[in-house]
Amino acid sequence: MRTSKSHEQWYELVAQKFDEHQSAHIDLQSAFCEKLQILKVLESEKPSFFAMTHNPEREKLYLDLVELFGDVDVFRGFATIPVYHPSRRLKLDDEALRAAFMAGFQTPQRIFWLTCNKTIASAYEDGRCHEVGEEHSLGYPKCCSDWHYDCFFARAIEAFFETYKKSASNMQLLDYVTSEWQPNSGWFLPSEIYLTGLLLSEHKFPFLGYLACPTCRKSVGSPSARLNESYRDLGNLVDPDTTERVRSWANGLRADLTQRIQSVPKIIKEGSADLELTGLEKGVYERHSRYLVKALELHL
Ligand SMILES: [Zn+2]
Repeated sequence: MRTSKSHEQWYELVAQKFDEHQSAHIDLQSAFCEKLQILKVLESEKPSFFAMTHNPEREKLYLDLVELFGDVDVFRGFATIPVYHPSRRLKLDDEALRAAFMAGFQTPQRIFWLTCNKTIASAYEDGRCHEVGEEHSLGYPKCCSDWHYDCFFARAIEAFFETYKKSASNMQLLDYVTSEWQPNSGWFLPSEIYLTGLLLSEHKFPFLGYLACPTCRKSVGSPSARLNESYRDLGNLVDPDTTERVRSWANGLRADLTQRIQSVPKIIKEGSADLELTGLEKGVYERHSRYLVKALELHL
């Protein structure tokens, strides 16, 4: 620890601030993961942490944390900067359209950031953290980080282009992307499929705070399996009760996941119906949805 306080003491102080801002959190599991990640950053075991603060209550929570850390030797701040790291080239044969999507990924997001690493702190301050890559800036395994970008962003963009390339002009598609598109995983392919992929990762590794790739999910000694264990051990040290509640919640997801996975063909049909697709477009959309299901490896 770079500070005079122990893990347990820091956890108590940080958890108190989280409790004071209940509406800043989606649920118990995600709030717990955030608290554990913050402890890991204070220990220099995780390169950095950042959190979106579009929700004003989250901005208030992190303002309190900035104050809480006082003169502790940890860099922190707020910034409105690009945060997405597109890790592979989009398969689009129209250069202007690809450039428009890439510009969309650069849209500045409001975040709070925290790190003990001076180089990474400078990257946040200069708005270049997205260039560093999640492996170095956040400590996520590269396999998981690349897979997440591929499945949750790139595939939907490529599916969108393939679906409409016959019926819309490149100019019309470009107009849509430049005026309306924002990076968001569920914007085109069925959002329920993405949610199922997310829950599958949380079911397996509930203490991670990011999504694990299928290869990591399948292997006992994978990078994500080891990280999940290390976060779970930290959780057991600082808050065994919440650790047990999160573990039990994750185990309990099994029944819901079984049902969700069985509903996948129906979800795909509903997705194309919601977009009012017919004929060739419907076929392309549903095929890309099935490719996504395969890439997410939606099975228990
Ligand atoms: Zn992985």
